[in-house]
Amino acid sequence: MSRIHLLSPRLANQIAAGEVVERPANIVKELVENALDAGATRIEIDAEQGGVKLLRIRDDGHGIEHDDLPLALSRHATSKIITLDDLEAVASLGFRGEALASISSVTRLTLTSRAQHAEEAWSVHAEGRDMAASVTPAAHPVGTTLEVRDLFFNTPARRKFLRTEKTEFSHLEETVKRLALSRYDVAFSLRHNGRVIHQLRSAERTIDREKRVASLLNKDFIDSAVHIDAEAVGLQLQGWVGLPTFSRSQADMQYFFVNGRVVRDKLVVHAIKQAYRDVLYHGRHPAFVLYLWLDPKLVDVNVHPTKHEVRFRDGRLVHDFLFRTLHKALGDVRPDDRLAGST
Ligand code: ADP
Ligand code: MG
Repeated sequence: MSRIHLLSPRLANQIAAGEVVERPANIVKELVENALDAGATRIEIDAEQGGVKLLRIRDDGHGIEHDDLPLALSRHATSKIITLDDLEAVASLGFRGEALASISSVTRLTLTSRAQHAEEAWSVHAEGRDMAASVTPAAHPVGTTLEVRDLFFNTPARRKFLRTEKTEFSHLEETVKRLALSRYDVAFSLRHNGRVIHQLRSAERTIDREKRVASLLNKDFIDSAVHIDAEAVGLQLQGWVGLPTFSRSQADMQYFFVNGRVVRDKLVVHAIKQAYRDVLYHGRHPAFVLYLWLDPKLVDVNVHPTKHEVRFRDGRLVHDFLFRTLHKALGDVRPDDRLAGST
């Protein structure tokens, strides 16, 4: 029988990586969230070969201090919480301090950053090794660039589960869409193999937001959408729901955000489905981009590490509010826009 021993940090990180990093899209999510947490106003995403060969994410956020750079790559190293009490009120997207450690254990990663007010930029590089990364001088404006190459270069078994370049890129693009729909105040760009896929300026006014939605999703959607802006019982709902004339054969254009984070929630889906029940043909799916805002204390978004699930304190209240708001909005549209199944 083997004796008990501690896993090496590298192996521990690789195992942990299995939960965070399944494909390039997951890496993009983590790195863009880090950029948002750093207060970035502009985020550039470059991908090559579906993101497997290369991902480069550049931001103009507050950067990382020289002495913190090697720490950023360590497991359970975070600047976002200190005590358990902080967790109750955590406003940042990250706080586990796992992402960079996990990602760097299965890729060749270079982190370059210049902190606000710092004179110089510095770089650390890691290739799944256990040793502490050394810090070298670099050229970079205030902000951070993460360059991640050769996903799963050292874990061939995981590499085998990657799909085609096209499929990986479409997952990646979907992730970017969700992030770009969650922060209109931030400019985003996405390039794939040198080609510009999305170029989004920051959008404050409703008309500019609608332009962003049109360019990310579909112009016809926004042209035939009902604008929602409702408030009741401490809940606020904003966004757009597609008219029944813009229904889809798949549930592929459904974006729901709770306090700014995208979620997939049964209760929410059910409420929206009910609202459309009388105006959509069977088998057709509505399109929507909706933002629900409520007191953060009334919702737990950290049920799952990927944070796509939520738990509402009062699910009934949320369900009824969604149903009633959308049912009314759809009922108010012209009768000839109802019960038509196009697209
Ligand atoms: P978490 O986001 O959960 O704190 P990460 O592993 O994603 O953990 O990041 C570790 C730390 O590195 C963060 O807490 C933050 O201090 C720093 N960091 C990572 N990315 C950036 C970035 N783009 N800009 C500034 N700081 C960053
Ligand atoms: Mg993070």
